[in-house]
Amino acid sequence: MGHYVIPKTPRTFKMFINGDWTDSKTGQTVIRLSPSHNTPVTIIPQGNGDDVNMAVQSARNALHAGWADTPVAIKADILYTCADLIAKRQEEIALLETLENGKTIEQSLGEVSGAVNQWRFAAGAGRGVHGASHNNIGDNLLGVTLREPVGVVGLITPWNFPFFILAERLPYILMSGSTCVIKPSEATSATTLIMAEILQQAGLPDGVVNVITGKGSTAGQAILDHPDIDMISFTGSTDVGRKVIESSAKNIKKIGLELGGKNPQVVFADADIDAAVDGVAFGLCINSGQCCVSGSRLFVEQSIMDVFTKKLIHKISKLKIGNPLDTETQLGAITTDAQFETIMDYIKRGVEQGATLLYGGKTLTDADGNGHYVQPTIFGDCTFAMDIMNQEIFGPVLCIMPFDSFEDAITYANTTEYGLGASIWTKDVDKALIASRKITAGRIWVNTTLAGGPEMPFGGLKQSGLGTECGLFGTEEYTVLKAVHIHLGERDAIYN
Ligand code: NDP
Repeated sequence: MGHYVIPKTPRTFKMFINGDWTDSKTGQTVIRLSPSHNTPVTIIPQGNGDDVNMAVQSARNALHAGWADTPVAIKADILYTCADLIAKRQEEIALLETLENGKTIEQSLGEVSGAVNQWRFAAGAGRGVHGASHNNIGDNLLGVTLREPVGVVGLITPWNFPFFILAERLPYILMSGSTCVIKPSEATSATTLIMAEILQQAGLPDGVVNVITGKGSTAGQAILDHPDIDMISFTGSTDVGRKVIESSAKNIKKIGLELGGKNPQVVFADADIDAAVDGVAFGLCINSGQCCVSGSRLFVEQSIMDVFTKKLIHKISKLKIGNPLDTETQLGAITTDAQFETIMDYIKRGVEQGATLLYGGKTLTDADGNGHYVQPTIFGDCTFAMDIMNQEIFGPVLCIMPFDSFEDAITYANTTEYGLGASIWTKDVDKALIASRKITAGRIWVNTTLAGGPEMPFGGLKQSGLGTECGLFGTEEYTVLKAVHIHLGERDAIYN
C-alpha cells in the first residue's frame, strides 16, 4: 500500500462563476461517495438553469471585455503557468480523481502528467492558428480568411477521464479566444473545480471560464438549451449526443461530439504474439474498460486463435484488482452504480444470447464488502447479432471472434455503427498500411494501442462523433472561418 489514504472528512467545493466561488442558487449540494470505499469524499453544489444563466452571461461579457482580442502570447503565458501549477498539485489532483472516479492512483498520476503536456502543447500550437490569403482569384481581388473565436462554448465532460478530457479541450478553447461554461459530470466534478482555481491563480480574467456543477438532466440540459451559447463540446453517451444535436437546432449552435466506440483489435498470425496479448489486455482493462477507445472486440487469425486466447487469459488472470489507492493495483472500481449495473447486465445478456464465458464475469468487493469491481471478462463464440458484440458496454468485457482472411478481418472490424479507434497487430507492412486505410476509425494504432500525445488529432467517424480535438486542429475546432474579399485599385462599375 502506498501513502495514499481516504481523507477523514469530505472536501467541500463551490462553483465558479465570473471569478467568484459560489453556492448554487438553491443551496443544494451532492455528497459524492468513493466508488471503491463507499465513504463520502466530496460535497459539490447542485447547480441548475439559474446558475447556468449567470455563467453564460459572465462568459459572454468576458468575451467582449477582451479575451477574444487578447494577443496569443499573453494567452499562452497563462496556459504555461497553468501547466506548472497543475504539475505542482499533481498528487492532490490525482488523489481527488481516484477518490471520485475509482481509477487506480498510478493511472490518475499519469493522467495529470498527460494533462500538463496538453496544456503546454496547446499554448504553443494555439499561437500558430491563422487564416490564409488567396492571391489568385482575379487581378483586382485579394482574398483573406480570418479565424475568429466561435464565442461562448458549453463544455460538457464525462466521468471516465474528468481531468484529462478537460485538458484535451479547455486549453484549446482558451487559445481560440473563446470563453466557456463547463459542466463536469456530477460524479466527478472536483478536479474541474481545482482547474478553475488554477486558472484564477494563473491570472485568467474573471468570466472567461465558469464551472457549473450539478446534474446532466438539469444543469447540463440548461447549457444545451441556452440561446446565448455558440458551441457545445460534448463527450459522453450517444443518447445525450443526440440531445446535443436536437438542441443545436434551436439556435444553430456549432457542435463537437465525442461519443461511444466499439473498437476492434485485429491480430494477424504474423504478429508479435506476446506484444499483442499485452496490448489487448491493456486495451481491455485500462480504466476498468470505461474508456471510449478501449479495444472491446478482438478479431484473431484462426491459426493462432487458441494460443492467443490462452496467453490472454493467463495474462489478465494475474492482474491485481481492488483498492485503487494501493499503488500496486492495476484495475480499480467501476465509477458509478448505474455503470456497474449496465456492465453486469451485458455480461448476463452475453451468456443468455449464447456466447461462451471464457474468463471472468464475476464481481468483487473489498474485505468490508465495499466497492464495485468487475473481473476482466472474455467471451468466445460471439456473433454480430449479440448485444455484447455490437453495443458499447463501457466495462472490462471483451468479445473474441476468429477470422480466416485479410478481407474478413477488415469486414469484421468495420461491422459496427461506431468508428472511434482500431488496433492492428502484424509484422507485414503492407497488411498494416492497407488495414489502416480500410478500417473506418478516427484513430488507428499499429502494433500498439492507446498510445499517443497531444500532437496527434483525435475525432470519431460514423456514430462516434463529430469534430477533431487536439493536435494542430485542436484550437481551430473552437473557431469560425470568415472570408474577406478585398478589391484592389479602381473598380469598374457593373451598372452604367
Ligand atoms: P452521459 O452521456 O449521460 O454523461 C456524459 C455527460 O453528459 C455528463 O457530464 C452528464 O452529466 C451529462 N449529461 C447527461 N444528461 C445530459 C443532458 N440531458 N444534457 C446535457 N448533459 C447531460 O453518460 P452516462 O453517464 O449515462 O454513461 C452512459 C454511457 O455513455 C456509458 O455506458 C458509455 O457507454 C457512454 N459514455 C461514453 C463516454 C465517452 O468518453 N465517450 C463517457 C461517459 C459515458 P451527469 O453525469 O452529471 O449526469
